[in-house]
Amino acid sequence: MSDDETIFEKIIAREIPARIVYETDAVLAFLDANPLAPGHTLVVPKEAYERVGEMPDDVASEVFAAVHELTPKVEDAANADAVTVGINDGEAAGQEVPHVHVHLVPRFEGDGGGP
Ligand code: ADP
Repeated sequence: MSDDETIFEKIIAREIPARIVYETDAVLAFLDANPLAPGHTLVVPKEAYERVGEMPDDVASEVFAAVHELTPKVEDAANADAVTVGINDGEAAGQEVPHVHVHLVPRFEGDGGGP
């Protein structure tokens, strides 16, 4: 394990626990540890890229394919009215973990604002 391994790489390597909800060869999705709403899910590429633009086309496609498949499932599972799909791409945008991750946040009528 290298010192610059992020928390998400540790989750991908099963070195620390997470509530994994979806997995392919290229992508992992798991529940956010500090959810903005019940069912808040993170979708990450298994290969470590810090920024969206650093992902090769095939990885970006795999990530979005997972987002496409999971978004309605997260909405249904959370019994939500909608989903905010978001990426904080870069530190100034609020990115805290330097490994690309897509937030799927269940939203409810009148819940008063997104992430
Ligand atoms: P922010 O924390 O401002 O949303 P990010 O966009 O980088 O910044 O999101 C990092 C996300 O990772 C946060 O929603 C945080 O709750 C989540 N997180 C941090 N550590 C873990 C963990 N061990 N397991 C699951 N989710 C985690």
